[in-house]
Amino acid sequence: MSVRGPSVVVVGAGIVGASLAYHLAAAGAAVTLVDKAFPASGATGRSFAWINVAHGVAADRARPRNLAIGDYRRLERELGGALPIDWRGALTWSADPAASERAVAEHAAWGYDVRLVEARNIAVLEPNLVAPPPVAVYAPSEGALDPVAATGALVAAAGEKGARLIAHDGVAGLDRDDGGRIAGVRLGTGAVAADVVVLAAGAGSAALCAGIGVDLPVSRSPATLLRFRAPSGLVTRIVGNDEIEVREGRGGRLLAAADHAEGEARDALGGRVLAALRRRFRGAGDVALLGVETGWRPMPADGAPIVGFAPSAPNLYLAVMHAGIVMAPVVGRLAAGEIVGGREAEALASCRLSRFGGPAAARPP
Ligand SMILES: Cc1cc2nc3c(=O)[nH]c(=O)nc-3n(C[C@H](O)[C@H](O)[C@H](O)COP(=O)(O)OP(=O)(O)OC[C@H]3O[C@@H](n4cnc5c(N)ncnc54)[C@H](O)[C@@H]3O)c2cc1C
Repeated sequence: MSVRGPSVVVVGAGIVGASLAYHLAAAGAAVTLVDKAFPASGATGRSFAWINVAHGVAADRARPRNLAIGDYRRLERELGGALPIDWRGALTWSADPAASERAVAEHAAWGYDVRLVEARNIAVLEPNLVAPPPVAVYAPSEGALDPVAATGALVAAAGEKGARLIAHDGVAGLDRDDGGRIAGVRLGTGAVAADVVVLAAGAGSAALCAGIGVDLPVSRSPATLLRFRAPSGLVTRIVGNDEIEVREGRGGRLLAAADHAEGEARDALGGRVLAALRRRFRGAGDVALLGVETGWRPMPADGAPIVGFAPSAPNLYLAVMHAGIVMAPVVGRLAAGEIVGGREAEALASCRLSRFGGPAAARPP
């Protein structure tokens, strides 16, 4: 394939970097995707991977996330069915029924298809649920994916468009030239020059930024994924409430996401979630815990994505975010437009690093 666009090194082959690599290569960039381990070896490989919309945040901040489902639908078409997404809808509630009512009103205000469902309809949507709540929010267009397979599909699709993957070779640092631009990345095996460097290294991004004097307010935030052997069909939708987030994964396994209580050990967490499943679902007596894994999520200080050119390094593009599974396709599309097409994406206006103070980013090179 003939490449006319800029040379771009994407650091990090989680779902965000894989999506960036695919969209950049599709836009004509000469892409090198680099990972210190292998694709989806970071937070992505331990994700619950629920594709949903924003809730309870200001409209400008909600905007990119609320485009996400549409971008997944586009990507499904582009990748010809290679994305393993299960659009089974989500059923959520909180102890306070008024909170569910507020959530439905908030989403309905921008035209999102959510419905307030009452106990007898909840029992139809989730037949094995013991004691359905009085009301819940049903979002039929939400889904979940297999994050490892999806990342693999994006890396493969990027490769078909000419991108090169370098795995098991970490970026030790970024090199600046005399003009302050990033000349490229330093790997264990040597340097790779680039017109643009995209930082999608998840929880490893802040350390790389610190090396060139850029303060990236992103912390490593733990979250735990639990896998269970369970009878197929025990849980029908993606179910979320104050106590548990659970869905069926591939091969009839159940996946649950949970946060450790203060000082709670891994085994205790597994036991607590297993007990909740048995209490909440009829027929869950034989459910067995298979594994508990903690993932380190890149968490920006205000919870919102950081996307765009870095103010003090005009050819360094940042793509570091929470809800990276949700955001990967929409950010990939919009970022490729900014990097290759020079089109500033208005939908990303709330995602710039400059919101934390300091100068706004220079225009793309
Ligand atoms: C239990 C759990 C549940 C979650 N549930 C959801 C959910 O339902 N929906 C959702 O959207 N999000 C969810 N998340 C968060 C989501 O998984 C992350 O936001 C997302 O995976 C981040 O993707 P990423 O590509 O930015 O980072 P990562 O997947 O962490 O990828 C970063 C990559 O960069 C590489 N890297 C790091 N440093 C270097 C270096 N110096 N050189 C080269 N490579 C480097 C790493 O090896 C890694 O492969 C959940 C996370 C967890 C743990």
